[in-house]
Amino acid sequence: NDDQFKKVISHAKEYGYVFQSSEIYDGLSAVYDYAQNGAELKKNIRDYWWKAMVQMNEHIVGIDAAIFMHPTTWKASGHVDAFNDPLIDNKDSKKRYRADVLIEDYCAKIEGKIDKEVAKAEKRFGDAFNKEEFVSTNPRVLGYLEKINEILSRMGKSLEAEDLADVKALIEELEIADPLTGSRNWTDVKQFNLMFGTKLGASAEHAMDLYLRPETAQGIFVNFLNVQKTGRMKIPFGIAQTGKAFRNEIVARQFIFRMREFEQMEMQFFIKPGTQKEWFDYWKETRMKWHNSLGLGEENYRFHDHDKLAHYADAATDIEFKFPFGFKELEGIHSRTDFDLKQHEEFSGKKLQYFDHEDNASYTPYVLETSIGLDRMFLAVFSNALVEEALDNNTTRTVLKLPAVLAPVKAAILPLVKKDGLPDIAKQILEDLKWDFNVDYDEKDAVGRRYRRQDANGTPFCITVDHDTLEDNTVTIRHRDTMEQKRVKITDLKDIIKAEVDV
Ligand code: ATP
Repeated sequence: NDDQFKKVISHAKEYGYVFQSSEIYDGLSAVYDYAQNGAELKKNIRDYWWKAMVQMNEHIVGIDAAIFMHPTTWKASGHVDAFNDPLIDNKDSKKRYRADVLIEDYCAKIEGKIDKEVAKAEKRFGDAFNKEEFVSTNPRVLGYLEKINEILSRMGKSLEAEDLADVKALIEELEIADPLTGSRNWTDVKQFNLMFGTKLGASAEHAMDLYLRPETAQGIFVNFLNVQKTGRMKIPFGIAQTGKAFRNEIVARQFIFRMREFEQMEMQFFIKPGTQKEWFDYWKETRMKWHNSLGLGEENYRFHDHDKLAHYADAATDIEFKFPFGFKELEGIHSRTDFDLKQHEEFSGKKLQYFDHEDNASYTPYVLETSIGLDRMFLAVFSNALVEEALDNNTTRTVLKLPAVLAPVKAAILPLVKKDGLPDIAKQILEDLKWDFNVDYDEKDAVGRRYRRQDANGTPFCITVDHDTLEDNTVTIRHRDTMEQKRVKITDLKDIIKAEVDV
C-alpha cells in the first residue's frame, strides 16, 4: 500500500541506499543514484545472478558489450519503428501521460472497490466467510470483474492494433481524468519512441546519429558468432550480460521501478529450432527457483503468461512480484525464435549460422531469453525486507531483513565501551574479518541503539566486545532476525559468518 511504499522510499534515503539524482538541483525525474549501501546491495544482487547464470553453468558465458552500437542495430531489431508507447497530452495541465498506465490505474481503482466489498462481507459473515465463493457469486463484484476484463481486452486490442483513436475513445468513454488536475481535456494520442538519441563525431555534418541502447540483448545477438567460435560453444549454449539500458519513459513513477536509466541482467540461450517449448519450460522453472532461493516468500511471485505476443516472440511469460503497489513485472522470459539473428543477417549481409556436427547441417538458432531489471530486483528485495516489528516490551523496531548473502554489511563490530582496551580488540577483529567480508565498526551511543541502527541497516550480525573478552577471547554475536546472542570464540567468527552469507 501507499504508506508502506513511502516508508520504503524514505528508508532507502535515510540509510544510504538510494538518492534522487542531482538532488541539490531538485533532482532529475526518474533518475536515481545508488548510495554507499545501495551500491553494495546492487552489486551483491548482480553477483548472485551472475554466479547462478554464468559461474555455475558450464554452457553459459558472460560478455560486456558497449552501450553504443551501430545505429543499424536498432533498425534490425525493430526498435526504430516499433519501440513506442502511446502518449497522451493534457491540454490544460500540459502534462503528458502514458495512455496504458492511465487505463491500468483506472482498473486498479475498480479492483480497490472489489477489495472493499470483500472486506465488508468478511466483517458481516465472520468465520463463515468464504472469499472464493463470494467473489464468484456476488453480483456487484462480478460486475466489477466483467468491467475490468472488458477494459483490459479492449486496451490490449487497441494498443496492439496501434489504433490510437481507439485508445483515445477508451479514455474518453471511461471519463479518465488527469491524475494531478482532474481535468479531462485531452488532446490526441500519439506514438512516442522511447529511445534516447545522441551524436557521435566532432563536426556537425559528419556526426552520426546514435541511440543509447534500450536493452542489453542486442549486444549479445550481434556477438553471437564471435562468442560461439572463440569459445567453441556447442548448442545449446547461452550468453549473459549485465549493463545499463536507457528508455525515455513517458511517465516514470514508482521510484526505481520505472527509471529512464536502469540496469538489466539478460541471458540469451541459443537452441536448435523446434526445441523452444522445452527450453521455455526449463527457463521458467529455473528462474523461479533462483528467485525462491532468496527466501522472499513464494507467495510473492506469480507467472503471467502472455496471450498477446510481441512480433518477435512465440511464447512469453512474466515473473511478477508483489511490490508495495501490487503484483508487477519483475522479469520476462521470452521465446524469441530466430527473429533477431535473422534480422541481423538481413541488415548486415553476414551469415549468423551454426554448423551442427551431429546433424551435419547449418541453421540459424532459436533463442530463449531471460531478462530481469536489476533495479526492480533491488526494489523487490528492499521493500520485502523492510518490517516494523512489535517487541515484547511494547516497543517496536525497524528491521531490514535482507537475505544475508545480499546484505551490504555482513557484520558490525561494537566495543561495549570506548575504554579499557575494548576498541583496540574490536579494531583487530575488523582487520581480520575485512579480508573476507564487508564489515563495519561502530562505537558511538549505547550498545542497544547501535543494535537498532544495524537492524535498520540490514546488517545480519553484530559482534560485541566486552570485558569478558579481555579474559577469554570470546565475544557475543547477535543475530539480526532472532535477536539471539551467543558467546563464541573470536577465532570462530569467520566460519560462523561464512556459513550464513555464502551461497
Ligand atoms: P514494462 O512493461 O514494465 O515497461 P517491459 O515489458 O518493457 O517492462 P522488457 O523490455 O521485457 O520490459 O525488459 C526486461 C526487464 O527490464 C523488465 O522485466 C524490467 O525488470 C526491466 N525494466 C524495463 N524497463 C525498465 C525501466 N524503465 N526501469 C527499470 N527497469 C526496467
